[in-house]
This record gives sequence, structure tokens and C-alpha cells, in this order.
Amino acid sequence: MQHFPLFADLHGRTVLVVGAGVVADRKISLLLSAGAQVVVGAHAAHPQVQARALAGQIELRLAPFDPAWLDEAWLVIAATNDRALNQRIAQAAQARRLFCNVVDDAALSSAQVPAIVDRAPLTIAISSGGSAPVIARRLRERIETLLEPALGPLASLARHKRQAIRQARPQLRARRAFYDWLMDGPVLGALRRGQHQEAEAALDQALAQDTQAPVGKVLLVGAGPGDPGLLTLRGLRALNEADVILSDRLVSPEVLALARRDAQVLDVGKAIGGPHEDTQARIHALMVHHARQGRCVVRLKGGDPLVFGRGGEELQYLQRHGIAYEVVPGITAALACGAYAGIPLTHRDHAQSLTLATAHRRASTTKSIVLSPVTRNHPVAPDSSLDTIEEVTTTGDGHTRVYYMGIGRLPSLCQQLLNDGLTATTPCAIVENGSRSNQRVLHATLQTLATQAQAQAIASPALIIVGEVSRLGAQLHWFGQTLGLKTLDLQPPQQQLDNQPYSLQA
Ligand code: SAH
Repeated sequence: MQHFPLFADLHGRTVLVVGAGVVADRKISLLLSAGAQVVVGAHAAHPQVQARALAGQIELRLAPFDPAWLDEAWLVIAATNDRALNQRIAQAAQARRLFCNVVDDAALSSAQVPAIVDRAPLTIAISSGGSAPVIARRLRERIETLLEPALGPLASLARHKRQAIRQARPQLRARRAFYDWLMDGPVLGALRRGQHQEAEAALDQALAQDTQAPVGKVLLVGAGPGDPGLLTLRGLRALNEADVILSDRLVSPEVLALARRDAQVLDVGKAIGGPHEDTQARIHALMVHHARQGRCVVRLKGGDPLVFGRGGEELQYLQRHGIAYEVVPGITAALACGAYAGIPLTHRDHAQSLTLATAHRRASTTKSIVLSPVTRNHPVAPDSSLDTIEEVTTTGDGHTRVYYMGIGRLPSLCQQLLNDGLTATTPCAIVENGSRSNQRVLHATLQTLATQAQAQAIASPALIIVGEVSRLGAQLHWFGQTLGLKTLDLQPPQQQLDNQPYSLQA
């Protein structure tokens, strides 16, 4: 081992920092958060460091380095930009048998400051022994994403209850099982929701029982549209917690690759020979079966689990069967496809409202979510029924319509929109495999969309965007392949923007 890791209690202990620039200030801030008494010595100080001195957070000595400063210190940090001076500081520390860290200079340092993941009182420190701090920092980022913030409060609670746990579980094995349960069970869940009293009550109740029966649960998780970078941190943690993953057809292999290696992955998206209702019933049964075995079940769905994904039905089923659940939202296809096709779904000049709809049924009976402000263009009363909203929005301008599951019904969907009064030249786009490496975006008009899509063999998963904003994708696209630009009138839409440069000095 090149360096011995050691966690130092700096509360009330003096630490000397020599140097008072920006780099020094970062170390000062870290030391203060660990409760150290910080003495800073430098011939000049950055305003931020001066402000700390004025606020009484630190003691600032504006003078040339004096080895006598080390007399009261437990630890020394040299953070000047003068290597000869840093060397003198390191030597003075060595003479007094004090550990000294010289920032970014492993050769002069007798102690390293690691990269830190702070879940106080849990602390994770990573060091590359000064050989490659960047690697340590990258590793820190990855660990940071994996460890949820609720671990800090959990560790505090465990510390508070340590004696009680020892008494109630005198055998080491039973105690270990209890701590395992703490990490996986409802206590962490309650802390995650910020319910500290409930967490403590759940812990006390579990301690009063003889053994820890594992409590199963279902996490309904949105996997996003495909690009694994669009998975949420909470979603990633769920995948690392899972014993069983029930995965949808739409979930990309790259997202599944992030799951815990020994999680059992069941692909429940493929038709199993029977009708769709059979597949759904099987999913319901699998969720309940595995949760009742005490497992953590992740029900993983493409996009967001509660947007056109039957997630609501699954939650109702779980609730009826008394299974605990949590929901982790995901980036729904409309948001991802808009972003990755350079199509702003709303725009001050072109669209003030947005419909997310499924084209799964006939367009005239389209089920939709309308996100629409009450504006002059759209005088929609808050209590209007969906039908009324559809009526208003399909005739007006300034509206973006996004259709899920529409590829198989494209001709009838376009015809329906024409019948509803949209003009044949209304710009449209289809985003196929949105956010994935094989993304294609087809631009057309309402009149040409169906034939163009057939000519280009556009296939599911694909999303249809109808409205003026889709024209902007011809200008703003930045990802994947773009088709059919020639068929569009590429005159940029009327800009109402002021093109005068904005002076930041003003
Ligand atoms: N819950 C999902 C939607 C499920 S419905 C979500 O929130 O995104 C399935 C439909 O979603 C597909 O038919 C397609 O229209 C759309 N879709 C899902 N992922 C997509 C992707 N990566 N690119 C384009 N469309 C996608």
C-alpha cells in the first residue's frame, strides 16, 4: 500500500494553510466543513479569503512565511504558487514531524488530500497516491452518482441506535442481517422521502421483532428513450438495487447494461403468443410473486412509466395486493425526441401549447394530455373536459401535437388532422429511434408525411411531431440523420428576436 488511509478528527484543531489564492480557498472551505481551526498565512490574500477573515471564519496572517506558524498546527497545507516556498514549508513540517500536503505536488507531500464523497457521517475517500488525481476525481463522480443522499441520514440514525441494535441483536449474524435490512428496507425509503420520524419508528418496530423478514417492493422506473445518459440518477440506483428486473421491449440494451450484474432480467415486453392482456396479466403476477419473496423488483419501462405505459394500472394492481412501491420518472419520448431533433416543442413565436397523444386509436378519439396555458389564443377554462380542449386546440394556431404509437396508423392520422382543419402544408417531423445512435428524423408536411415515411421505411419506435415548431428542426438539428429537408420551405420562421449584441458589461 502506497499510502495509509486515515480519517482525521480536525474539530477544534489548528490547521495551517500557507497561501491565500483560489486554490488555497478551496482547501480552506473543506477544512472548515470538517470543523478545523484554520490559520492562513500569506503575503497577500484573495478577496474571498479576506472575506472569510472578516467574517471570523479563519485567522489571516498577512506576512512572509514564518516557520513558527507551524508550532500550533496539527496539519499543514502548502498552497502557494512558489515551488521553492512550498519546499521550505514541507521541510519545516518534516522537521517538526507534521504531515504536510503540498497542493498538486505529490513529491513534496507527506500526506494526500483524497477525492471525497460526502454522505456525512459516511465519508468515502479516493486516492491515486498523487499519481493521477484526475482518475481519482472521475471515480469520485461515479461513486457520487451511485450513493444516494439518504445514506448520510441512515448512517446518523444507525449511530444513534447503535446501542439499542447491539442489545436487541447480541449475535453478530443477526446484527449483520439487521444492518442489511436497514440498507435495503423501508427505513431508507422513509429517509429518502425526508420522513425521519417514520424511519425511526420503522427501525424501532423491526428491532422489537425477532428476525428480519426481507420486505419486497416494486420500483416502477422510467428508463428514458434509449440514450443511457438520459437515465436519472435515482433510476441508476434502482437498477443497482434490483434483484429482479422486468424489462420492456423499448428499454435499450445500453440501459440494461447498467444494472447490477447478478440481477435476474426478465424481458416481459415481447408478446408471449397470447393477446396483449395476457402479457399484462403475466407482468402483474410476476411483480407480486417476486415482491412477496422479499425481492426488490424493478419494473423498467421505456421513457416515463406513467406516460402511455400502463404504469398507472400496474400501481393500482400493486396497491390492491398490498405491495410497497416507489415511482422513478423517466424522460418521455416527446421530450427526448424534441431535444435530439432540435425541435423546441414550445416556442414563444410558434407554439404556446402542447398535446401529447396516442394515435393508438382513431385520431378523432385520440387520448391526449394537453399542456396548455390559458392565453388569448387558447381560452381554455380550467374545468373544460378533454373533448372541449381537443376542439379548441385542433382548430387554433400556435399548438404542437405529438403522437406516440402512430406509425402503423399514419395515413389515417394525417387525414384526420386535415379533416380537423389543419392545412396540408403544416410542417411535421417523425423522429425514429430518438436519442439512439441510429436516430433518423424525417421532415415533411401533413400532406406528404405518410408517403415519405413509407418511402424511407420509417419503423417503430417513432414519434410524430405536428406543428410550426417542427420546421425549426431543419435549422437546429444536431444529432443523427436528417431526411426530407428539401421538401420543406426552409425560409427561417419570422424572427422577432432582437439581434443586437447584448453587452454583459452594461
Ligand atoms: N412510456 C413511453 C411511451 C410508451 S408508448 C414514454 O414515456 O416515452 C411507445 C411509443 O413511444 C412508441 O410507439 C413511440 O411512439 C414512442 N417512443 C418511445 N421511445 C421512443 C424513441 N426512442 N424514439 C421515438 N419514439 C419513441
